[in-house]
Amino acid sequence: MRLVLLGPPGAGKGTQAKRIADEYRVPHISTGDILRENLRAETPLGLEAKGFMDRGELVPDEVLVGIIRDRLGKPDCAGGFMLDGYPRTIPQATALGEILGEKGTPLDVVLNIDVPDEELVSRLSGRRMCECGASYHVQFNPPAVEGVCDACGGRLYQRDDDKEDAIRNRLQVYSDQTQPLIDFYSKESLLASVDGTGGIDEIFAAIKKILDAYK
Ligand code: ADP
Ligand code: AMP
Repeated sequence: MRLVLLGPPGAGKGTQAKRIADEYRVPHISTGDILRENLRAETPLGLEAKGFMDRGELVPDEVLVGIIRDRLGKPDCAGGFMLDGYPRTIPQATALGEILGEKGTPLDVVLNIDVPDEELVSRLSGRRMCECGASYHVQFNPPAVEGVCDACGGRLYQRDDDKEDAIRNRLQVYSDQTQPLIDFYSKESLLASVDGTGGIDEIFAAIKKILDAYK
């Protein structure tokens, strides 16, 4: 299965991606996680991306296209993959089409998780992350022990860009630059949408109904 998860920041892409990766055995490729790993390791890529990420802006397309081209070339992607957080612009989507076209392995489906803006702000401001990529919420999805990751025992932290100013900017950037992808993929007959409000398990059940067709 070759899958893209689409949706605004806070829609629940990362949360559902963990479950999808377990159920369908596809690697979960989050460009946000890749960039944050580079930030922590202070690589040249991380240093270049830092300012954009802190302000809630997009990192330039050519940087992201390079990351995705490399990552999709790894052996674990030969049987399929799930992209989370990429593409975020029309040029990124066009580049993805070219990369996959060269390999003769087009996308199967683009799954859009639909959540209204009012709910996104409270989801993002209460989000707590682990370096392993797991994501929690202080109220809606708390870990068993406060501040500790259920999956790996790591210490949870709040992302710098989950503060109010950056959140507002990210939602605006989403609506200006990423939302047009809904139309783009709809025209390619690749788009499937799920209602991303309601419980995490309930949403996953709706996602499974769609993805079982591509097993
Ligand atoms: P994204 O990867 O799309 O930015 P996340 O998966 O990190 O979003 O989810 C954003 C926040 O919302 C997290 O704090 C997460 O625990 C919480 N969350 C995810 N799904 C739901 C849901 N269905 N209802 C309430 N909160 C949710
Ligand atoms: P995320 O973890 O998906 O919310 O991404 C966090 C931040 O990383 C974003 O606000 C951007 O600054 C950057 N980023 C992640 N993916 C992309 C992308 N595809 N294009 C540009 N910037 C990205």
